[in-house]
Amino acid sequence: MAGLGLYTIMLIVESLARVGVEWITIIDFDRVQLHNLDRLLGATRRDAQLRRLKVNVGRRLFYRASTAVNPVVRAVAKSVTEPEGFAAALDCDLILLCVDRPWPRHVANYIAYANLIPVVEGGIIVRTHEGRFRGAEWSARTVGPGRACLRCAGAYDPSMVDLERRGLLDDPHYIQGLDEDHLLRRNENIFPFSMSLASMQVIQFIALTTGLLHMPDLGDQRHFYNLKGSRSQSLCCAADCEFQHMMATGDTQIPREAILNQAVPHTPKWQEPTDEHSCPATGRPPKREQ
Ligand SMILES: [Zn+2]
Repeated sequence: MAGLGLYTIMLIVESLARVGVEWITIIDFDRVQLHNLDRLLGATRRDAQLRRLKVNVGRRLFYRASTAVNPVVRAVAKSVTEPEGFAAALDCDLILLCVDRPWPRHVANYIAYANLIPVVEGGIIVRTHEGRFRGAEWSARTVGPGRACLRCAGAYDPSMVDLERRGLLDDPHYIQGLDEDHLLRRNENIFPFSMSLASMQVIQFIALTTGLLHMPDLGDQRHFYNLKGSRSQSLCCAADCEFQHMMATGDTQIPREAILNQAVPHTPKWQEPTDEHSCPATGRPPKREQ
């Protein structure tokens, strides 16, 4: 199992630990910073000061909360859009996707069909106008064979994948030119929404793996803050959806390089610390902080 991602990843890691999941892989290239402490369960100011890798914080969180007899965490400090992160995701039986960018969503969608690994995805949309809150909705779904893919479910905009691969979504000049209400220019505290979304994703995971009440597919679930309610619906892919034609093709139909674009590594630009931040591929529970 893998947890990939951003705002809900720590909540999901904690939940998986407490429901007894034994083996997980956490894939995330990013480090803890002060401005994202508001969305990272288990992360401390000390973690931010030391710019600890999120995967190491997630590993610590999992071991502390685990109810399994022999919990094992593989921490991979890469993006799923990089070869190492992609390969780690392929080693998993199921992926819980917690990213907010189109490219990793596109890659996970590809994995779900080409490599037959189910992906439980979730996302949050916060609407603002001139800096004021205007509403929010969050949604979760499980994709893979027999179900609608992320693209047909509207979980990402395909035109944004290319922008991200070209580096524009991290380009300060490009971002500066966007409307002030654009997603890329905002940094709301969405922790309460994240808790609700993480719960939806973990319940989708439980439904898929246990078939509880003979309901392995909970559909496309969406909660609307403005409407004070939720809805669930079954979606289908479009008739010409390319992902449905990639079923079980692995790397044979589309070269891995075409999906990952290895010419554009997705690693942070800052200096990589070399001391305690090193992140072994696998490891036993870390020592408690002094
Ligand atoms: Zn589709």
